[in-house]
Amino acid sequence: MSFSRNIKYISWRKIWNLCRLHKFYRKAKNGRLIGEVPPPSFASYEPTNICNLSCEMCPSGKGMLKRPRGTADMDLYRKFITDNRETLIDIILHFQGEPLMYKQLGEMIAFARQNRIYTMFSTNGQLLAQNIDIIRNARPDRIIVSLDGLSDETYTKYRVGGKVQNVLNGLEKLSQLPANERPFIELQFLVFSHNEHEIPDLQKLKKKYHIDKITLKSAQIYENSQVDFLPENKNFSRYEVSESGSFRLKNGIKNQCKRLIFGTVVCFDGRVVPCCFDKDADHEFGSIANQSLHEIRNSKKYIDFVNKVFSNRNEISICNNCTE
Ligand code: SF4
Repeated sequence: MSFSRNIKYISWRKIWNLCRLHKFYRKAKNGRLIGEVPPPSFASYEPTNICNLSCEMCPSGKGMLKRPRGTADMDLYRKFITDNRETLIDIILHFQGEPLMYKQLGEMIAFARQNRIYTMFSTNGQLLAQNIDIIRNARPDRIIVSLDGLSDETYTKYRVGGKVQNVLNGLEKLSQLPANERPFIELQFLVFSHNEHEIPDLQKLKKKYHIDKITLKSAQIYENSQVDFLPENKNFSRYEVSESGSFRLKNGIKNQCKRLIFGTVVCFDGRVVPCCFDKDADHEFGSIANQSLHEIRNSKKYIDFVNKVFSNRNEISICNNCTE
């Protein structure tokens, strides 16, 4: 975690907690999981798992999510922030779904900022222009805008139902905000076989829309039928594909996981899951609707899961397709 971007939210208590997390993580790596599990330094909190697109390979967009659809309860969210504000450094208001589909996203951002937590969310950008007042008034610290194609032809191969121009309109509105009201803007480009040739043109967008950072991200795939989406340039793929067309992570996996220790993920209904790879909450540890996060992270379910990840990670299916 880099402190340069969120230094204004750091306190001695947060640093002390971070040190405790590092100590706990080292103990877990050495197979000595003893003592209290410290609170996380970062959290993802899901505003909604409803989405306006039907992206290929996204269980939410493709309607394959087994969890019910819904939106966050603001009282539960405020309680979570209030209970954890002393130790949380970052909050990511995104898990599944499109955050801008949730009408109270602005309130979520503002409440976290009032409680001195670095606030960011990730969006497909389709609704950005019409919701620019949310950004102006709530003032998130960072926005990650996904744009994985520079023409509708390439863009909609993955972002089914979207339009490039809607994203560009949103970037335009963001760029027009006064510098002191503008969040850090990160443009995220998932690299596929159908869009890798567009990478050099991203620099023009960077200049035009005051984009602070461009991230070229490798895509996660789930089935052999999706290997055709992988780019030719192997630097932008996390997989090795065999001649038979099967795939596996090219760097293998280690029996460890920082995200599980340093972070937490809360579904819109309060259920706590290990990480954003658990899209269906198959490994739910408990719910903040009836337990504190401290109780959940010190429960048998959480400890058993940590033990398994740090000893035999390949037995957990989500952990087998994860680059952490
Ligand atoms: S999938 Fe497993 S290894 Fe990856 S971040 Fe989640 S818990 Fe950690």
